[in-house]
Amino acid sequence: MVLLTTKQGEPLPDTAVQELKSLPFEIVLCSEAAQDAYQAAINRYNKAWVLEAGAIAFCETEDHVIDCLHFVKKWAVELAIACGRHSFYGASSTVNGFVIDLKKMNKVSIDKAAMTCTAGGGCRAIDLETPLQAEGLSVVMGAVNDTGIGGLTLGGGSGFLTGQHGLVCDNLLAATVVTADGRVLKASEDTNADLFWGIRGGGSNFGVVTEFVYRVHHQGDVFFGPLIFPPDKTRAFLELAEPMLKTIESTKGKLTIFCAFAKGPEMPKVHPVALIFYDGPEEEAKQHIAPLLELGPVRDMTSMRKFADITYPLQHLAGTPGHQRFATTNVMMEAPFNVDAVEALANDFDAFMTKYGQAVAPSRCMIELRDHAKTLAVEPSAMAYRARRKTITLNMEIQYESTVSDQLMRKEVKAMAGKLKTETKKVGVENGNDANLTLANIADGNEKVADMFGDNLPRLRELKRRFDPDCVFNKWFPIPPAQA
Ligand SMILES: Cc1cc2nc3c(=O)[nH]c(=O)nc-3n(C[C@H](O)[C@H](O)[C@H](O)COP(=O)(O)OP(=O)(O)OC[C@H]3O[C@@H](n4cnc5c(N)ncnc54)[C@H](O)[C@@H]3O)c2cc1C
Repeated sequence: MVLLTTKQGEPLPDTAVQELKSLPFEIVLCSEAAQDAYQAAINRYNKAWVLEAGAIAFCETEDHVIDCLHFVKKWAVELAIACGRHSFYGASSTVNGFVIDLKKMNKVSIDKAAMTCTAGGGCRAIDLETPLQAEGLSVVMGAVNDTGIGGLTLGGGSGFLTGQHGLVCDNLLAATVVTADGRVLKASEDTNADLFWGIRGGGSNFGVVTEFVYRVHHQGDVFFGPLIFPPDKTRAFLELAEPMLKTIESTKGKLTIFCAFAKGPEMPKVHPVALIFYDGPEEEAKQHIAPLLELGPVRDMTSMRKFADITYPLQHLAGTPGHQRFATTNVMMEAPFNVDAVEALANDFDAFMTKYGQAVAPSRCMIELRDHAKTLAVEPSAMAYRARRKTITLNMEIQYESTVSDQLMRKEVKAMAGKLKTETKKVGVENGNDANLTLANIADGNEKVADMFGDNLPRLRELKRRFDPDCVFNKWFPIPPAQA
């Protein structure tokens, strides 16, 4: 039977359980809840990380969060924090531990005069994007609107608007943070500036963020949709990546292209896809992407759309019955675009798809072609988020059914991406770059903290010593506190 235990695995005494039950908000206890309520409370986007927590608390106020922190420290219970539950590698899950689930803290308010949006710490992107759209506004979020704003923002976060307006964390103006010792702190450039520096990229290392304030932007309709190419155009498609990057830069970030490799049921092999985003009219967009149109897509599903309509999860991915387990990793490839290396990966990926067939059908590799000028305009030391380099990010997202072993899929991802990682690291070192840097949001969880934060790590360790010396928050790339 699942129990709420201490970090050492000791079941909590009845007095602790009674204490928990006396708290004035919804708590789902593994030992007492109905199965369906318990399963709903521990559910995660990545079913490989649905772990059996001992208790899940649905906080509605900062006082509730403080009560939870007091409880987990008093009884030495492992803590996880959940917002949108979209972590690919279990950063919001725990076995026998305690989850602070923020989904009820989802209030959103828009100040159009100030061009800001204030959102509760448990919101998903859709909670902001929908009301902002009604005002002709937008906010920088990720590519899919059911992702939680918590993990997305605290890990850095990039989306279709990043080319024009920077990362999600670059658009964060202020936050309210409940720290491990139960203080409620406002954080911004002017107030608790150190803490504000740390949460922008430092994840959940410093506290539970109960409110985020973002800069918002005027937003018109956008040109959006996929162009699908036949497998025999793969090489020609990849050869267009470098020239398209130059075009993207010339649009000052209005154009972003996600190149993908995927395998539709009708295709014998993996085929290339270009997902086009252009923040402007169709005619302009078509001029910019003319080389791709001339290459001859077999399907063109681009059209003008409302911005908030483009971030809905793709039905064929989200809705693939039974395929809800993920093994992921990212490679920050050195520029210029290495056609041979990516073609080799596409071939490996094709062999992988053939080997496992229907069991891994919705899997894909995504290559983000975006303008980095806006993100590079911020100094890498300006906040905890370190991975500001002119690289081309490749995300591998293996999506598979529950009959397939998680360990096997993680091994396959590692093997496929490994060659590209080695190659890109070699080039990075030759170019004198910080070649080990990696991204937190699409990580596999095995990355080193030093590679996540580079030269920002000493300052982060000092902050950890000040705000969480006992490592209460240790599920998301835990930073070791500096020695006192
Ligand atoms: C379908 C899908 C699409 C994605 N697209 C993008 C994308 O376009 N761009 C991108 O950058 N990333 C993307 N991601 C990755 C995503 O940003 C990360 O997985 C992110 O951590 C998810 O945030 P969450 O709040 O939903 O996750 P959760 O699993 O709830 O939390 C993840 C981590 O963040 C911490 N956390 C969350 N909220 C808070 C809070 N309020 N206070 C303190 N800590 C908190 C948790 O403790 C946990 O460690 C995508 C992921 C998925 C599954």
